[in-house]
Amino acid sequence: MRTLLILGASGDLTGRLLLPGVAGLIAQGRAPGVAVVGAGSDDWTAQQWDERLTASFAKARAAAREGGAAALDAVQAASSYHRCDVTAPGALAALLATLEGPVAVYFALPPAVSQKACEVLSAQDLPPGSRLVMEKPFGSSAASAHALNQTLATLVPEDHIHRVDHFLGKSTVFNILGLRFANRLLEPLWNSDHIEKVEIVFDEDLALENRARYYDRAGAARDMIQSHLLQIMAIIAMEAPATLGERDVRDGIATVLRASAIPEDFAASTRRARYTAGSIGERSVPDYTAEEGVDASLGTETLAEVEVRIGNWRWANVPFVLRSGKALGTSRKEAVITYKAVPHLPVGFRGVDNPTRLHIGFGPDDLTLDLDVNGPGDLFTLNRVRLQTQLASDPLLPYGEVLDGVLNGDPLLSVRDDTAEECWRIIEPALSAWAADAVPLQEYPAGSPGPADWDTSAR
Ligand code: NDP
Repeated sequence: MRTLLILGASGDLTGRLLLPGVAGLIAQGRAPGVAVVGAGSDDWTAQQWDERLTASFAKARAAAREGGAAALDAVQAASSYHRCDVTAPGALAALLATLEGPVAVYFALPPAVSQKACEVLSAQDLPPGSRLVMEKPFGSSAASAHALNQTLATLVPEDHIHRVDHFLGKSTVFNILGLRFANRLLEPLWNSDHIEKVEIVFDEDLALENRARYYDRAGAARDMIQSHLLQIMAIIAMEAPATLGERDVRDGIATVLRASAIPEDFAASTRRARYTAGSIGERSVPDYTAEEGVDASLGTETLAEVEVRIGNWRWANVPFVLRSGKALGTSRKEAVITYKAVPHLPVGFRGVDNPTRLHIGFGPDDLTLDLDVNGPGDLFTLNRVRLQTQLASDPLLPYGEVLDGVLNGDPLLSVRDDTAEECWRIIEPALSAWAADAVPLQEYPAGSPGPADWDTSAR
């Protein structure tokens, strides 16, 4: 890509995540020759934009090795900011006409504004080879995601559209694929004959953190499960791809999602809850409904759990439990694969025969295998041990990884059109049941493990 055009250049995402991500790429020489251009509806001066770049590039500049700081200086010196109402017919097209192509157009805008901007754009406005980068949430239902996909399809080919899921970092995806498909020990047992259940958990000890404007209309299920956790589930459950090319991997993900659904007895297959006042470590956290900008009548959940079933031969009858929440006492981000009990434990062993468990950690990226071995002192008593190792991680920030794919033309880590729609299709019936109050909205004090009757122990 010759130019990265960031729409919404004065926004929070751009300053906090996007520009630091691109700075890391530039400092590491992974975005050679790229120009960064900002656009927004604010009438920013060149100096305001320059100050934003200085602040957002600072960390990468300080950490840069030989040549990295000079590369950042050059990009910053050549960068410009343009006032542009992207929803006004012709305005974005006129800006694009002044830029050197191909252009990666990053829509760091409120979703409705991104959609409008795409509707007023046409394929001829984009220099050949251009790419479009869409932020989450991508639509708000299967139907709206489909409509947005149709609009985008009139502009560039599907493999030039990057629907961002910064959760799908390269290391997360490749660590799971490497673990599964490079180890004879694991893959032959990776099915319903041997696996009891799979849990994918993203529990945060952070509370709302001033994000009511977005979060209060989303909630935990839309924010985390609809997008990120279903993607991780699909990578854990997919068939072995022939290559690590985007087509093979994304086909594998889509096949799993097409076969997936939440069982229809939603009172049994889903749970939701909202935090009340409490404390997390030294921090005291107010009741969610007392947080600034929250509309209590929306009944937004801050903790959500759903059970997904994958209707295929490999995974018949294996529950995939996906859970995510805020303001929990312990931050826990991992997938846990629980194996079935052995068919026969030789008579004479004492103690508890715990199931074999494999934990894949997402930040820190690590791997833990829980096994039973013979106890110390008494060889007939079973004893639990943990084998643990760190997994590789990319030195880039998550948004650096996203932009790496965009600028270097690889959509592997982007969500494909069909997948974006499938994720909504899976979660929508549960959201409707929640909206109809078919599943109670429970409560848990901030800093606790969740509602008292939920089993949220580190299984
Ligand atoms: P902000 O509200 O902070 O920023 C939105 C930006 O859009 C502002 O720069 C605003 O400019 C600009 N804008 C609004 N209308 C127009 C218009 N008609 N023409 C041109 N620019 C316009 O939002 P965020 O940065 O938080 O979020 C942006 C996107 O990223 C959203 O889709 C969000 O869901 C997603 N996202 C955000 C995350 C975050 O942590 N912030 C995390 C993950 C995803 P102005 O102020 O001048 O109007």
